[in-house]
Amino acid sequence: MRKPIIAGNWKMNKLAGEGARFLMDLREKLPEKDKVDTVVCAPFIHLPLLTEAARDFPVSIGAQNMHFEDSGAFTGEVSPEMLKDILVDYVVLGHSERRELFGETDESVNQKVKAAFNHELTPIVCVGESLEQRENNETFTFVEQQVKNGLEGLSEDQLKQVVIAYEPIWAIGTGKTATSEEANDVCTHIRQVLQDTYSKGVAQAVRIQYGGSVKPQNIEELLGMSDIDGALVGGASLEEDSFLKLVEAG
Ligand code: 13P
Repeated sequence: MRKPIIAGNWKMNKLAGEGARFLMDLREKLPEKDKVDTVVCAPFIHLPLLTEAARDFPVSIGAQNMHFEDSGAFTGEVSPEMLKDILVDYVVLGHSERRELFGETDESVNQKVKAAFNHELTPIVCVGESLEQRENNETFTFVEQQVKNGLEGLSEDQLKQVVIAYEPIWAIGTGKTATSEEANDVCTHIRQVLQDTYSKGVAQAVRIQYGGSVKPQNIEELLGMSDIDGALVGGASLEEDSFLKLVEAG
């Protein structure tokens, strides 16, 4: 049985104090950690404050990107070692906004996934097709390639810990959710790819989130699907009430 994982992706939103207050307000209200894994992925500069605020209560903190090297001449970048040092647990890698706007490739995602494991960070690896690819019936082959390239070279043990977020680009921030069936079909395909490429054990262990206009009104139906184990949520994770509802549905 895979444990549900609900992750908020704040993207480039909230000031540090607002973020810390958000977490303090959630304290006491969050369900037990052993029922659902709750993660908040925040801008880099908020992370030290948030890991401190999240101490002793059941929420983990994640970054939204990182470099793959430990240190060096990479102006403006943040390393996995730095994230681990301030008690960050998760890192979102290969989000479509980073692929589209900041030149992220399957190759760099793969380097970052490996670096995450070198520093005991859990990667949330994002995949998903554009509207054009969906209309051309390329969704399965495209997503399959992203998964294989992104996870290449990992050990069986590492593979089992990976979280994959299936986020169709056309459903992000548009209010247009994939239907639960559409979302589940791709998640089922991803699991089949994991089984064919690696093993049944890996396929059964990996948690696959859906992301793209997830909100309290559609979370239960999505989580009720056979291969959807959680959600990666943008807009609806910014409000305490709606985020709490999403976590409670987990
Ligand atoms: P929205 O939930 O705002 O559609 O964003 C989804 C997303 O990109 C999460 O990473």
